[in-house]
Amino acid sequence: MPKYTIAIASGKGGTGKTTFAVNLAYVTNSAVTLMDCDVEAPNAHLFLNPEWVNSEEVAVLNPLVDENKCNGCKECKNHCRFNAIAVLKGEPLISLELCHSCGACLLACPEQAITEFKRPIGTIKEGSLGQIKLLQGQLNIGEVRSSALIDQLRTKQVDTDLLLIDAPPGASCATIAAIKDVDFLVLVTEPTPLGLNDLKISIQMAKFLNIKIGVVINKSDVSSAPVREYCAKQQIPIISEFKFDPNLAKVYSYGQIIAAKLPEYYDQFSRTLKRVKEMIR
Ligand code: SF4
Ligand code: SF4
Repeated sequence: MPKYTIAIASGKGGTGKTTFAVNLAYVTNSAVTLMDCDVEAPNAHLFLNPEWVNSEEVAVLNPLVDENKCNGCKECKNHCRFNAIAVLKGEPLISLELCHSCGACLLACPEQAITEFKRPIGTIKEGSLGQIKLLQGQLNIGEVRSSALIDQLRTKQVDTDLLLIDAPPGASCATIAAIKDVDFLVLVTEPTPLGLNDLKISIQMAKFLNIKIGVVINKSDVSSAPVREYCAKQQIPIISEFKFDPNLAKVYSYGQIIAAKLPEYYDQFSRTLKRVKEMIR
């Protein structure tokens, strides 16, 4: 059970949240688990290039109707609160995309015409680089059940004091699945009108979930003032600002760990992590 669970998220993709998560892991200097819950596009491994030690398939249960037993009564449809079942001409049709595997239709069917089958939705891989243990979810192409995969990933045993979670961008069910129950949420944003707009939505989500928040401004410059003002009004701390720096962009573009290549950033990431831990205590 980790002592600190810190999620890193952003209102939109491409703000640098994965870079931030990887670099926080790098400066930890002791055993740390990095969980890549951005399952539609897990990228942390590109920076870490870990040695993979395990890979397992993740599947969900979906209902399967035996048409020989079905009498078309529609009880399954009436009990599905996700509107995943339609009964057309006495034949139940199940949308696997909408099905949440709740099992209600099985219980509701008076003819015991419904059973379940396992449908693969993705994989969970485990790897490591030095003291960093990487747990990564990867959703299958065309699959929509990202929350189900993240739920599975979040049940993985973590035996380090610090767990860092790279959450999916946005404020979707998948993001919520990744950040629920964390001790602290770092929201990485850029100082643009779009960035601020998406940040506001992420802040609302975190407040709704009653999670402590801090903001990191990436590519900070003179246009950061509106983000600072908004955060001040909302009484949300800005825990770090990373100025636009071509050196940083270059290291990033080569898929390298910034804190490993640029010592001044090692210090900044270390201070940021220390500050977050202090805010959790
Ligand atoms: S398992 Fe639940 S969500 Fe899926 S079709 Fe049945 S009732 Fe609907
Ligand atoms: S509840 Fe059972 S019998 Fe009724 S329509 Fe659904 S599958 Fe068929």
